[in-house]
Amino acid sequence: MSLIGDLRAALGEDAVLAGADIGARYRSDRSETGTALPLAVIRPRSTEDVSAALRLCHAAGQPVIAQGGMTGLAGGGNPNGSEIVISFERLSGIEEIDTASATMTVKAGTPLETCQQAAAEAGLFLALDLGARGSCQIGGNLATNAGGIRVIRYGMAREQVLGLEAVLADGTVVTSLNKMLKNNAGYDLKQIFIGSEGTLGLITRAVLRLHPPPGEIVTALCALAAFDDVVTLLRRAQGRLGGIVAFEAMWRDYFGFNAAALGLSFFANEHGFWTILESTMEKDAVESFLAGCIEDGLVADALIAQSEAQARQIWSVREGYPIEKLPNLLNFDVSLPIARLGAYAEACTAALRAKWPAAHVSFYGHVGDSNVHICVSTLYGPGEDLHSVDDIVYGTLKGFGGSISAEHGIGTLKRPYLHVSRSPAELALMRQLKQALDPKGILNPGKVI
Ligand SMILES: Cc1cc2nc3c(=O)[nH]c(=O)nc-3n(C[C@H](O)[C@H](O)[C@H](O)COP(=O)(O)OP(=O)(O)OC[C@H]3O[C@@H](n4cnc5c(N)ncnc54)[C@H](O)[C@@H]3O)c2cc1C
Repeated sequence: MSLIGDLRAALGEDAVLAGADIGARYRSDRSETGTALPLAVIRPRSTEDVSAALRLCHAAGQPVIAQGGMTGLAGGGNPNGSEIVISFERLSGIEEIDTASATMTVKAGTPLETCQQAAAEAGLFLALDLGARGSCQIGGNLATNAGGIRVIRYGMAREQVLGLEAVLADGTVVTSLNKMLKNNAGYDLKQIFIGSEGTLGLITRAVLRLHPPPGEIVTALCALAAFDDVVTLLRRAQGRLGGIVAFEAMWRDYFGFNAAALGLSFFANEHGFWTILESTMEKDAVESFLAGCIEDGLVADALIAQSEAQARQIWSVREGYPIEKLPNLLNFDVSLPIARLGAYAEACTAALRAKWPAAHVSFYGHVGDSNVHICVSTLYGPGEDLHSVDDIVYGTLKGFGGSISAEHGIGTLKRPYLHVSRSPAELALMRQLKQALDPKGILNPGKVI
């Protein structure tokens, strides 16, 4: 194939993998739905390399897919066998930490955890944080507009970005490495690329916003009887306690399954809902706030982690690795107006159980951000039509005015359902944008739109 020869000539022999040299890691993201290897893998070391590769692929009409850490859960980085992958693994490193501006300029392939550690060493704090921190990359985080566990206090990935560099489908480099908090000089171009899942341009560098470190975080686990109590606790904690940096909830079936599998027990009794509340306020303040909530019957029971190890135990139930082992497990990531989350969970469970009475159905998530994840295992064997689970989960969601993707993105897995959350006018504008930026349709074809 002469294109591969041209790419090798432009980027160097070792920058292009083909044939048997393409490892299995380029096949699928963490959704484990990818089945094909790409035609070739390009591993650029610089923005110029990305630009040269795209220029050649654009001229040849060759589709490309960006791959970051491949921790995505929507199939966004999966090839179908006819694309060339541009993998950002070598375009890695922190270029600068500017303590006066409180910014970090970073290459797209840098792992999130590396950026967090570098910020901490400079006496600052990078607010983006998610379970995949060791493997996911900043470019992937921005391309998916990742959420994570600190959204309630600091916002999503989008809110952590001041500047961005992206390469367009034809190889044009658009460098907007702005460091200012305020910059209204025309359209905010970085927003086009953030959350576009590699379909409008490839992100090569970013200027991230850093914050003062939040100080010591107190972790509390609370047990409650009803979902309305969870919402009341959230609003009361924000109003009376303050310093809330995480607020996660788990429904009984999710908490019970994981806690039992991990051999953990926190309270003597069973409860309907469990929340993890994290605050930067003094431990005494959190303690007296929770004592008040127990006294007036809002919270059934509560404990404050007495050590880092106990806080980790509490979070291990929320991270829920045991549940991932259920057969045919499907994971959903939806958002709804927070007051409707409880009713949606009940309606969705009822609809799924009507079809699969023995199914495992459980709910958990970043409830403080109106975001809930759903675990469904129909407990049926291979051959089961798993799309009928999608139909029920998203069909029920439509009646509640929710979004089919709170934070994981659309990728390939949710593409058939985008119309549930977006109007015909919104979809038409998305197509216009795609046509304007990528008229040949070479960037991550078949994803999102
Ligand atoms: C244990 C675990 C916990 C998770 N927790 C969360 C969570 O709390 N919140 C959350 O939002 N997500 C979460 N995720 C999902 C995932 O980690 C995020 O979507 C993450 O942002 C993906 O980053 P990545 O580098 O792995 O991207 P990839 O999976 O490699 O790619 C994701 C998408 O971005 C595109 N892309 C990648 N790099 C670039 C680039 N440089 N330029 C343009 N496009 C690019 C790809 O083409 C693809 O469409 C979790 C995943 C796991 C496995």
